[in-house]
Amino acid sequence: NLGYYCGSYGLIEDMKIPMNDRVCYFGDGVYDATYTANHMIFALDEHVDRFFRSAEQLNISVSFSKCELKKLLQDMVNKVDSPEQFLYWQVTRGTAIRNHAFPEPDIPSNLWIMIKPGGIKDIYQKFKLITVEDTRFFHCNIKTLNLLPNVIAKQKAVEAGCDEAVFHRGDRVTECAHSNISIINNGVLRTAPLDNLILPGITRGHLLDFCRENKIPVDESPFSLNDLMGADEVIVTSAGALCIAASEIDGISVGGKAPELLNILQQSALKKFQQDTCY
Ligand code: PLP
Repeated sequence: NLGYYCGSYGLIEDMKIPMNDRVCYFGDGVYDATYTANHMIFALDEHVDRFFRSAEQLNISVSFSKCELKKLLQDMVNKVDSPEQFLYWQVTRGTAIRNHAFPEPDIPSNLWIMIKPGGIKDIYQKFKLITVEDTRFFHCNIKTLNLLPNVIAKQKAVEAGCDEAVFHRGDRVTECAHSNISIINNGVLRTAPLDNLILPGITRGHLLDFCRENKIPVDESPFSLNDLMGADEVIVTSAGALCIAASEIDGISVGGKAPELLNILQQSALKKFQQDTCY
């Protein structure tokens, strides 16, 4: 488990960070993450682009370029023996005495990278999900470090013997604790629109590309809990899950009624991962 913090490398377990890193008081930073195989990083450009967008949306001035970051990430990946890794990085708004307002602009941002062994999930397993009221704020489109509702929701899922938690704001399904969610109904793939209630998942974007390539119509409009429970298929997407179908939500059987379409999307997802990583 290798870590990087502002130029220093070490085992994550041994690394120390300054107490005044604004992440400690405010969670004042953004992150991104993806997986590697064969020491190659899945969808690197897209994850780095989103990372810079997240930082920009919070006015965090990043003290490195996209190119420098990609090189640092690849160097980290090369340093580790395990060919399959979870690769995570974050930037925080620098180190300064606690004060809500931003520190002076000349205070540099802090870059963190961490890597731990682990591959993507088995795409053919079936997920069990629970539903949880979405109590997050209205900046869910930014990949911030403020993840408490996500942590609580995932813990509830684990305690219920499930794989993921599906958030809903009232009747409207938004996304999951750390994935996006889509449904297939009558041959149409439906997924929540990109607004401030969901993260623009890179894998969600891939799923929409696969739909277009395979002439599967897409409807990016909000859907309800009823739509979810009655869907022909329920699909969870993230860099680590790629495209996993759910078979149960809150203990009730769901999906399983459009296996051909699901198979097309899963094959496309696997192919993309394999192409990106020469897996
Ligand atoms: N939604 C949330 C809240 C997430 O945390 C994540 C991944 O971390 C996703 C969706 C899926 O995003 P991606 O497909 O880019 O991994």
